[in-house]
Amino acid sequence: MGADGRPLGAEGEGQGHLVRLHFECATGDLLGSYRCDCGPQLAQALELVQQQGGSVLYLRGQEGRGIGLVNKLRAYALQDQGQDTLEANLSLGFPADARDYKQAAVILRQAGLTRLRLLTNNPAKARALEEEGLEVLELVPDRVDPRPENSRYLETKRDRMGHRL
Ligand SMILES: [Zn+2]
Repeated sequence: MGADGRPLGAEGEGQGHLVRLHFECATGDLLGSYRCDCGPQLAQALELVQQQGGSVLYLRGQEGRGIGLVNKLRAYALQDQGQDTLEANLSLGFPADARDYKQAAVILRQAGLTRLRLLTNNPAKARALEEEGLEVLELVPDRVDPRPENSRYLETKRDRMGHRL
């Protein structure tokens, strides 16, 4: 159900449905960690969807770009020794981004949402959904103010992972 209580898919699909795919981040969403930008991104997405209509899909079980919470904490330990978020995941033997978008695509399609305005700074997310057969009409940027604690994380996302920040 959308933020306004109407069923998903009920609004004008001509312009695409505003969607945030938010991957659960226990440290950022629940504990308010400043190491990443997930908490503020989720808050902003909920606010925007409340204003404009749309949906936030909260996907569980793919913590830390898909490596799991325990490995994410291991990656944080490597980051404390100087690696960036990308290097740390690679050092642990994981790909840069191990998230699976199949589940998200199934949920969206079942809800009749196949033309999307995706709330993200990450073009790879749009590509992943397109590979699953969905149409991404627009990337709607997430504007989150950096903090001293996450500035390196955001720089890595921008410079090494193609995020539009
Ligand atoms: Zn996070």
